[in-house]
Amino acid sequence: MSDRPILLIHASQLLTLREEPVPRRGSEMHDLGVINDGALLMSDGKIVSVGTTDEVSRNDLAAKAEEFDCRGKVLLPGFVDSHTHPVFIAPRLVDFEKRIAGAGYEEIAEAGGGIRSSIRGVREASVEELAEHVLQSLREMAAYGTTTMEAKSGYGLSLESEIKSLKAISLAAQQWPGTIVATLLGAHVVPPEYREDPETYVDLVCEQMIPSTAEHRLATYVDVFCERGAFTPAQSARVLSTAVDHGLKTRVHVCQLTAAELGPLLRFHPASLDHMDFVDDADIPGLANSDTVATLLPAANYFLGLDKFPPARRLIDNGVAVALATDYNPGTSPTTSMPFVLSVACTHMKMSPAEAITAATINGAYALGLQGSKGSLVHGKDADIAIFTAEDYRELAYWFGVNRCERVFLRGLRG
Ligand SMILES: [Zn+2]
Repeated sequence: MSDRPILLIHASQLLTLREEPVPRRGSEMHDLGVINDGALLMSDGKIVSVGTTDEVSRNDLAAKAEEFDCRGKVLLPGFVDSHTHPVFIAPRLVDFEKRIAGAGYEEIAEAGGGIRSSIRGVREASVEELAEHVLQSLREMAAYGTTTMEAKSGYGLSLESEIKSLKAISLAAQQWPGTIVATLLGAHVVPPEYREDPETYVDLVCEQMIPSTAEHRLATYVDVFCERGAFTPAQSARVLSTAVDHGLKTRVHVCQLTAAELGPLLRFHPASLDHMDFVDDADIPGLANSDTVATLLPAANYFLGLDKFPPARRLIDNGVAVALATDYNPGTSPTTSMPFVLSVACTHMKMSPAEAITAATINGAYALGLQGSKGSLVHGKDADIAIFTAEDYRELAYWFGVNRCERVFLRGLRG
């Protein structure tokens, strides 16, 4: 770690995303707060000054700083990947081939593939092994410009293995200079041993997993997969209500495969509702008037080879706060690349490059309750910065399948 302040100068564009309000809605998503010939000064992990190179160079600390010339680069807040499932052991290559041959999501699950096939790997692994896999994904994410991520459990699906998964997240977080927010997703699917009696599994989630998670402070959020083949709206409400009773915050996987009524979920003030491919028009005004973010995960649609993508335009144009995330997981979205997500958001959901960057930074930070420290480059916030080889921010979503992220700083530390 360098004790000296660090000064980044002459950036072709520096994207501050500084303007209020947070989260951004509608046309507010277009304003990236671009500074040409931008500079940023950081010290002790925090941003000290942001402006043009002339302005920032006048700061007293600038004279003592280690200097990086950022000509031909775009600087922006590190991406906030607000939806990932990194606690697993093996890729799901059989599912991959089956899907290519024409099998559907539910058909693969029926055949014993899908989420259930990741359970064995997690149950048999040690916490250290799992942490090593999580850490590997964190390093990959940082290489693509991500400095903050949410990480869910959800492939253990027993009290012991869900707690072990959360401990693995915590262990990996201690070895990574970026920021991790942990989520208990014990209610991901009903594991095979409870297949005939899903209510007893919901009892286990509510009476043991959530209390234990809260007691040991292993997660900030509780998530539930509210979907046909996973958990019913009534079961989901019970999980969310129990989470709130234990002082945990909530988020929900919903409307991925089928429509669901959002009103009953919004009562729990979830930080985000995620996927939202099948959101009903009637639910959009209520969502737009809430503090809940719609987190869209188009890399999953891409990987599943779907024609349908989440309705970003309908949501944004009606005032819903939208975030973008990878949904990194072994079954439906094996990617750690936020730039790839930006590309798919632009090409398949018709988001503008500026909207996509806003969704992947400040709105993602808001979806994790971290808007006070992450998601924009302003004085006093954490020095989480991504540097891309590009003259223009639109290039971030334009080049795809290649990595133009040159460097990140994670709380002032070089990634
Ligand atoms: Zn997910």
